[in-house]
Order: sequence, then C-alpha cells, then structure tokens
Amino acid sequence: MTREYSGDILIVDDTPNNLRFLSTTLTEQGYKVRSVTDGLMAMTVAQAAKPDLILLDIMMPNIDGYEVCQRLKANEQTCDIPVIFLSALDEVLDKVKAFSVGGVDYITKPFQLEEVLARIQTHLSLREAQKEINKLNAELELRVRQRTAQLEKEIAERLQVQERLLHLALHDVLTGLPNRTWFMKNLEQLLQQVHQQTGSHFAVLFLDCDRFQSVNDSLGHLVGDQLLVLIARRIELCLRPGTTLCRLGGDEFTILLQDIHAPEEATKIANDIHRELATPFQIGVYQVFTNVSIGIVMGNEIYKQPEHILRDADTAMYRAKANGKACYQLFEPTMHRRAFSNFQLESELRQAIERNELITYFQPIVELKTNKITSFEALVRWNQPLKGIITPNNFIPIAEETGLVTAIDLFVLRQACQQLRSWQNEGICELSLTMSVNLSVKHFMSFNLLEQIDLILLETNIDGQCLRLEITESDIMENAGFAGRIIEQLQERHIQLSIDDFGTGYSSLSYLHRLPIDHLKIDRSFIMRIGKHGKNVEIIRAIIALAKSLDMCTIAEGVETQEQLDQICELNCDFCQGYLFSKPLSAEAARDLLIKGIVSPSQ
Ligand code: C2E
Ligand code: CA
Ligand code: CA
Repeated sequence: MTREYSGDILIVDDTPNNLRFLSTTLTEQGYKVRSVTDGLMAMTVAQAAKPDLILLDIMMPNIDGYEVCQRLKANEQTCDIPVIFLSALDEVLDKVKAFSVGGVDYITKPFQLEEVLARIQTHLSLREAQKEINKLNAELELRVRQRTAQLEKEIAERLQVQERLLHLALHDVLTGLPNRTWFMKNLEQLLQQVHQQTGSHFAVLFLDCDRFQSVNDSLGHLVGDQLLVLIARRIELCLRPGTTLCRLGGDEFTILLQDIHAPEEATKIANDIHRELATPFQIGVYQVFTNVSIGIVMGNEIYKQPEHILRDADTAMYRAKANGKACYQLFEPTMHRRAFSNFQLESELRQAIERNELITYFQPIVELKTNKITSFEALVRWNQPLKGIITPNNFIPIAEETGLVTAIDLFVLRQACQQLRSWQNEGICELSLTMSVNLSVKHFMSFNLLEQIDLILLETNIDGQCLRLEITESDIMENAGFAGRIIEQLQERHIQLSIDDFGTGYSSLSYLHRLPIDHLKIDRSFIMRIGKHGKNVEIIRAIIALAKSLDMCTIAEGVETQEQLDQICELNCDFCQGYLFSKPLSAEAARDLLIKGIVSPSQ
C-alpha cells in the first residue's frame, strides 16, 4: 500500500492488546505513533504533541471517549485534530453521538487492517487538504489586505494630484491670485445669478499696468515679476469683502465686485487703487513708479455671455489709457471698437476659407527613447495676401466663437491625411507614422463629425490608426457626455486620442480614467517653468505618474532648451514636441526632415 502522507497518530485505548496491535501495525506503515491508555492523558498529549489524527476508544474508565472528544473539540489547540472512534463489536456504538461530539469516523473491532489504514489515510489526506486550504485562504486574505492598502494609497495620491492640478488650474503661480479660468467661471456664475434674480448687480474692473513693458525691458523680467507681486499686494489693500482680485495674465488684472448698487461703488475702489499705487515701489536698488488704467463694466441682465463683459471692460480700459495713464473709465455702449474689428475678422476669415488661403504646417513629435519622429502635429496657418502668415492664436478664437472652426478643422484634417498619403506613397515614412490633428469638439455637437472623418479617411486611403485627434481638456470636460460617445466611436475606428494642453483645465481624474485616451500632452506652461537644477518639476512628475497609472503616454509640449529636455527625459516622459527639435514646418521642409529620419536637438 502506498501512502501520500505519513503523520503523527495518537492512539487512546485502555485495552493493552488493542493498543499494541494498532501501534505496531501503524508504526510498520511509517506513521509516528503515540499511545495512551486513558482519556485525561489523551488530552494532555494531544495538547502537547498536536498529532495529526487521534484514534479514540469509546469505552474507557473515568471519562469515556465521547467526553474526551467533546473536550478536545472545545479546546482551541486541539479542536482541528480529526478524531476516529474505536468501538468493540459488542459495545453499542452511538453513531449519532459519535458525530455530534465531533468525531469524523469510526472503526469497529476487531480491526480489518486494510479498512483501518484506508480510513486513517482518508482523514489524514483530508486534514492535509484542509491545512492547505487554510494556508491559501490566509495568503489570499493577506494579499487582499495588501492590495486594498495599496489602492487606498493610490487613490489618496491621485486625489492629492487632482487637488494640486485643480489649484494650479485656477491660480496664477507668480502672485497666487485666482487666474483667468477662475475669473471666467465665476463671472459666468454671477451672470447667471443676475439673470435669475432681478436687481442683483455686480461690476468688473479691468486693470492694466502703465509702462510695465518698459520696466520689463529696462530692468529685466525678475524685477518685472517682483513688481507684479507688489502691485497685487497693494491692490488687495483696497478691496472690501465680496471682491476678488484675479491675474488675467501678463500685466492685466481684473476685480470682481459682487452685490453693488451703483457705479460709484466701483469708481471709489478705482480711486483708492490709484491712490495706493501712487507711492513708488522699492525693488532692490530700484525705485519704480507705475500705476494702472482701469476699465469698469456694470454686469447686468443685458449681457448674455461672460466673454462680452470682459471684452467691454477691456474696451473701457483702452479708452482710459487713451485718456491718460492712471485713469478709470466706465464702459459705454458707444465704445465698440473691438466688437467691430472682430466682425471684420470674421468676414475676412470666411473669405480666406473660400479663397484657399489656409495652409497646414507640420511639427514633429519625437520619441525620446529613439529620437525618431513618430508623429506630426498639423497646425493651421493663414496666408493672408497683405499681412503674410498669420498664426492660429490670432484667428482660432474668433473662428470658435462663430463656428467657422469646424470648416477649418476639416480642411486641416483633409490636408494632413493627404500629406501622409503622399509620404506613404513615396515610401519615406514608416507606416506607423501618425498625423495629429486638432479638433474643437464643441462645434461638432451639431455636426456629423464621424461621417466627415470616415469620408476623409476613405478619400485619402488612410488607416484610422494613423490618425490621432487632439482635444483640449476643457473641451472634453465641458461636453463630457457627448465627448464620451464620440470617443467610443473613434476607438472603434482605431483612431487615437490625445488630451491637449493637459493641466490647464479642470480634468476630473475619475472621468479621465474611464476614457480610452492614448496620450496626455503636458501643457507648455509647465515645461516653461522648469528651472535650473531641475526646479519646478513636481507637477510634471505628478502628471507623468498619473498618466502611467492610467496607461497613457505623455508628450511634453513646447520644449525649447536642452535643460528642459534633460529634465523631461529624467522624468521618463515618452515624447517631446518643441522648438528645440523643430518649429512647425511647411510640407516640403517636413518632408526633408522625414527623409533624414532622426532629429536631434538644435543646440
Ligand atoms: P496647440 O495645439 O497647443 O499647438 C501647439 C502650439 O505650440 C503651436 O502653436 C506650436 O507652434 C507651439 N509650439 C510648439 N513648440 C513650441 C515651443 O517650443 N515654444 C513655443 N513658444 N511654442 C511652441 P500654433 O501653431 O501657433 O498653434 C496655436 C494653437 O492654435 C494650437 O495650440 C491649437 O490650439 C490651435 N490650432 C492650431 N491649428 C488648429 C486647427 O487646425 N484646429 C483647431 N481647432 N485649432 C488649431
Ligand atoms: Ca494640439
Ligand atoms: Ca497643446
């Protein structure tokens, strides 16, 4: 007979013959055997030696087998040991009792050797299996506990990153003030309130520093930056509760004044600010005189969009500047200088599209591991017959406002795909080279985006996987449901997706997590801030960690210096796009670069 397990067996029997017989036989079979002749001893040995199995006689003097078994089961140290009862043929075996006190089996005397061994073996195997299960359960439990702890840590880290990103998205790093995004969001809310409750009013003050440019030019950026911080702190001294100072960018600030009843309340603050700023600023050895020109707009229900309030405040500020520095001006509807020029731009842009004045430039995106060009971003330019090449920041915003951006996006998409087709035909690029094309999502809401993309891919015979769409974070977040649906359908076509300008919007990370996004493009503003000796990289590090945990690749945008490149390499960023490798190029220049194959930093 072969056995899988040997084991320790305790035999309890008051009949010496039985004991001897069982003990000898089991020892011969390779078991380690202990034997005792009464119940009390049985319990002591069981506790001390922890046998794997107990053979327990029922009829014994003092305490009988049932009682012994019951006590063994009640003891934490011995309760797991299987007990097989031994009973003589002439005894009445109470089987129900045997099992109810915790026995696993019984053997009747006289013993059939084969049967005894088979039963012992079965229960030892069962016990072994049980031990294995217990061990696995314990391991599993441990692993679940460890994984839960790790997940909790990851979630806490993500929340922290999210909080920091959110703070960063809403605040200006230099002055710590709320930034343009914060301002526009809050302006929008105030405007909604005005529409809901008649009689509630607010005002916006638009401040622009006088002669700031000349301070910057003559004393340098560092002094300029310090001056901005000092100006901010002095303006804050003039504010009452319910007012917020924001830095729009550059030397422009805005103030949101809630709950006001008359323009005089706003002009009083403007006067206070002028007085406060009249004393010169001492920065190191320099004494700097500066003040601000202020445009004021009363927010009322006539306004439908926050952008229009800002536009009018800006217009009033320009008028104040024209009236002489350190002045304020209340907006009046006759001041439509800017509105007019926007209208002109719009009609010129319409003509530009019809007259084919738009062209597409291409900027390489380089894989940092190999220095290979893996993608080009298609960037639109307007070749204006009189003014020359105009960059998109000068016309995309108005195109977005008017919806013309859809036509522009489709034009660029088609040109980019045509270009890729021609490079593929020439055999100068790898088939994995992708085209990245910018898309303004919100204007596709009423438009057949997917049909248009399908058509262009078919026309140019380009594979979906060679196309990558870049959508800004805010576009996705503002149209979450819609964007989600589009993204799913893009994924069916294997079209890739990048989140553009990442870090500047409001990404809800839990939402990001659910979208099949391939790349995060780290906004240029973060790369720009990389200082000497790797300063200011914390947020980039956090974004890269976040992207990795969501299985996304990272692209650093706007890399201009070797220092920035070294730093993003060290942080394990995957791709890089920036002037250091190449500016956006015409199709011919991009073709030359492709033929060269590998790009190197231009310093
Ligand atoms: P974006 O999508 O963030 O594109 C990157 C911009 O950063 C480009 O500006 C590029 O020239 C610039 N850039 C790249 N590397 C560097 C660098 O090292 N330093 C600096 N200072 N700048 C760098 P560009 O071509 O002027 O485009 C501006 C924006 O206009 C784009 O920003 C994008 O939002 C928008 N845009 C461009 N083409 C299109 C288009 O076809 N459709 C739509 N909807 N928007 C477009
Ligand atoms: Ca882009
Ligand atoms: Ca970008």
